Amino acid sequence: MRKSPRTNCSKCGSKVRKFKLLKKINGDFLCKKCVIEKRKLHREFLKRKVMGIRKKTDIMKECKERREREKELRKIVSSKPAIKPIKKVGRKISGLGLYITKIEKQVLWGKLLKKGLTQQEANERIKQLCNKMVKIREKLKMKVKTTEELNKRFKEEFARLCEDLE
Ligand SMILES: [Zn+2]
Repeated sequence: MRKSPRTNCSKCGSKVRKFKLLKKINGDFLCKKCVIEKRKLHREFLKRKVMGIRKKTDIMKECKERREREKELRKIVSSKPAIKPIKKVGRKISGLGLYITKIEKQVLWGKLLKKGLTQQEANERIKQLCNKMVKIREKLKMKVKTTEELNKRFKEEFARLCEDLE
């Protein structure tokens, strides 16, 4: 087999003094510089692809990209119109103030005690009042259409009953 007379690197093309200085790697004749470079790339390949060791800078870059993606996603999500809550239908009146609240009862109770009623008597009066208010509520529901009106009328009735107690 005839020895190749070449003295140029297959990769970078730079001329070496003699053929012996070129190293044959995978059919290529490489100069010293290219051999070092190739070995370096190969080591890098082994580390990153075969052994799965990632560069710190790559990891940081990935983290940054992920953060940016998440930021974008949040922007998209927050710009979406909020889903309107489904309105409750039917005659659900609770929560509209159509009941005597605990505080109202306590105030009333205090008033009754001041008037000289015993605790038991006060409890009894409040119980009667609550029963009255239940009846008033039912009547109002028949007459009044809007919940605001219903609420207002109920509170008025309640105030009137409180005055009667005094
Ligand atoms: Zn070279």
